Amino acid sequence: MKPPWQNSLLGFDLQELTAIVEEMGEPSFRGQQLFEAIYRQRIESVEEVSTLSRELRRGLDRQGYSVGSPDIQRKFTSSDGTIRYLISFADGQTVETVWMPEGDGGEAGDGTESDLPTEFSTRPWHRATICVSSQIGCAVDCQFCLTALLGMKRNLSAGEIVGQVCAVLNDQRVFPPEDRTNLVFMGMGEPFLNYDNFIKAVRLLVKGVGIPESRMTVSTAGIVPRIYDLGAEHIRPKLAISLNAANDELRDLLMPINRKWNIAKLITAARDFPLRSREKLTFEYVLLDGVNDAPEHASQTAELMRGLRAKVNLIALNPGPGIDFRTPSDAQVLRFQEILTRAGVPAFVRRPRGRDIFAACGQLKQTIEIPENLSSVH
Ligand code: SAH
Repeated sequence: MKPPWQNSLLGFDLQELTAIVEEMGEPSFRGQQLFEAIYRQRIESVEEVSTLSRELRRGLDRQGYSVGSPDIQRKFTSSDGTIRYLISFADGQTVETVWMPEGDGGEAGDGTESDLPTEFSTRPWHRATICVSSQIGCAVDCQFCLTALLGMKRNLSAGEIVGQVCAVLNDQRVFPPEDRTNLVFMGMGEPFLNYDNFIKAVRLLVKGVGIPESRMTVSTAGIVPRIYDLGAEHIRPKLAISLNAANDELRDLLMPINRKWNIAKLITAARDFPLRSREKLTFEYVLLDGVNDAPEHASQTAELMRGLRAKVNLIALNPGPGIDFRTPSDAQVLRFQEILTRAGVPAFVRRPRGRDIFAACGQLKQTIEIPENLSSVH
C-alpha cells in the first residue's frame, strides 16, 4: 500500500473528486461536498467530513485515500515576525514556505526557532503574505540566488503546492477570504518550469481555499512562452518578471536563461501581456554592488519600461554563503530608485523580510544552521 500522502485527495479538482465518488456509486453532489471539506474547511481526516455518508467515508478510507496537509518539520521565527517553514513530503523531500505578517504585532518574535503552535487571542496582523515554492531546488542558475546552489531536485505536484499553503494557514489558524491573505509564487523554484502543476494549484487555491486571484502574484525568471500561456488563462495571478539587468551582456552573465530568451523577447512578451483594468506588471531588480547598480543601468531600465504599464521593485541583494556579490548601500539603492522615478517609472524598494532566519528573497535553501554573522546584516 502507498504511504497516505501519496494517495492524498489534496490536489484533485472538483471534476476528479466527482469522478471518484461517482465510481463508488454516490451522487455527483458528494464531489462538491468533498471539495469544500478538503479545501475550504481543510479537514485533516476523511472521518471528519460529516456531510458525507458513513459508507462513503469508509469507502474512501478502504481505497487508501487520505486528506490533510503535509507536515511542518521546522519553523524559524524572525525578529520582524516573518516565519520560515520547512515542510516535508512523503518522499522525505522538503520545501520552504514563508509567512509574512503585516501590521501591528508583526514585529513580534525573538529570532529563535519555535516549535510551539502560534497562539493568537486576537489577530496581531491586518493582512499576511505567504511566499510559496513551486519546485524542490531550481534549474535556472541565477548567479545571485541561493536556491540555485541546490540544483534541481524535482517538481512539486499541484497537491504539494496547495498543501504547503494549507499547512501554513492551519498553523496560523487563518481562513480566507475573511482573513486577508496574499500569495506570492516567489519561493524555491521557477513556477513556469512546472507550469501545469502551478496553474492547477492556482485554480484550487482560488476556487477551493478561497484566496482571490487578485491577491496572487507569480514571479518568473523569464520563461517567455509561459508568459503567453499565463496571459491566456481565465484564472491567473498577477505577473512579476525578474529583470535584474537591463542589457543582454550583463543579463547573460547574471541569469543564463537570458541566452535562451533575451531582453527583447522578454519585453515583447510583457508588452503583449493582456493586463486587466488597473493591473500593472511588476519587474524585480536585485541590486548587486558595483555590478548592475550604476546610474546608466537605472537609465537603461527606465528605457525598457517605456510604454509599459509597470512598476519596478528594487531588492538590495540578500547575502548568503557561496554568493560572491555584495549588498549595495542604502544610498546607492535610493539613487537607482530616484533615476527611475524621475524618468516616470514607479519604483519601490522591497524591504527585506526575515533575513536573519534566511527567509528573504533568494535565501531559500533549506538552511537549518543559521550563520552567526548573518543576524548582524540589515
Ligand atoms: N524563479 C522565479 C521565482 C523566484 S522569485 C523568479 O526568478 O522570478 C525570487 C526573487 O528573488 C526573484 O525576483 C529574484 O531575482 C530575487 N532574488 C534571488 N536571489 C536574491 C538575492 N540573493 N537577494 C535578493 N533577491 C534575490
